[in-house]
Amino acid sequence: MKLYSINTGHFKLDGGAMFGVVPKSIWNKLNPADENNMCSWALRCLLIEDGNRLILVDNGMGNKQDAKFFGHYYLHGNDSLDASLARYGFHRNDITDVFLTHLHFDHCGGSIERKNDKLVPAFPNAVYWSNEDHWQWATIPNDREKASFLKDNILPIQESGQLHFVPVSNKGMNANGLLDESPFAENISIRFANGHTDKMMLPQIRYKNRTLVFMADLLPSIGHIPLPYVMAYDMFPLTTLQEKKSFLQEAVDQQYILFFEHDPVIECCTLQVTERGIRHHETFLLDTI
Ligand SMILES: [Zn+2]
Repeated sequence: MKLYSINTGHFKLDGGAMFGVVPKSIWNKLNPADENNMCSWALRCLLIEDGNRLILVDNGMGNKQDAKFFGHYYLHGNDSLDASLARYGFHRNDITDVFLTHLHFDHCGGSIERKNDKLVPAFPNAVYWSNEDHWQWATIPNDREKASFLKDNILPIQESGQLHFVPVSNKGMNANGLLDESPFAENISIRFANGHTDKMMLPQIRYKNRTLVFMADLLPSIGHIPLPYVMAYDMFPLTTLQEKKSFLQEAVDQQYILFFEHDPVIECCTLQVTERGIRHHETFLLDTI
């Protein structure tokens, strides 16, 4: 197995919304805001080369929305999905599996592209993975989360016939108070989290005798490790708090590597226990593992 970091660009989100109840005087030191209070965040995906499967975890914002949409989110930087794949000798047609942690536009926007006025899968040879509960949640959205679930990103996946669901457990946390887990492939399992949105899926990968977890929006950046640093975007912040507490303890005990989708700079870190709680320990690039 080989893992590759696939950056699809950077975008901007309001710093206050990203750090929830944390005051700007504190978060501005972690990720300095521009004159509009917006901070820059990565759209960093993970490519898993596993035998004859090539699994892409999330796929950024894509490029099919209109100028007004991109005016809100400032897609910027030199990285793109195709260029990042090409750097490692891959093409989007090689992808066998697109694994969608959840269906917010900044995670699944690259799934579908516009071709001759039609919305078609951008990965023609891939199976797209979601789960039935989250699919329902996203396609009949609540009014608070609706702006993140764009129909153009989601419905054409189902219409293409390329959508598959992984089985999901409804318990939330298991009997040991850990995030629920289901198998996905021989060395890949899925951890479920429900605080950010319903049934978000975090791939957990056994890699070079270590365990790496793709954090998606449970811990979007290294700045979100302290417990109260929960995004205002989360549907159930107290659930996120509980999930973070449980996961961080497990991750420090088991010496997991955390992979960040949105940290503007840091790809990976390990954790350590400090007087102030669990904090990051070493930070490093994925390809140094
Ligand atoms: Zn999200």
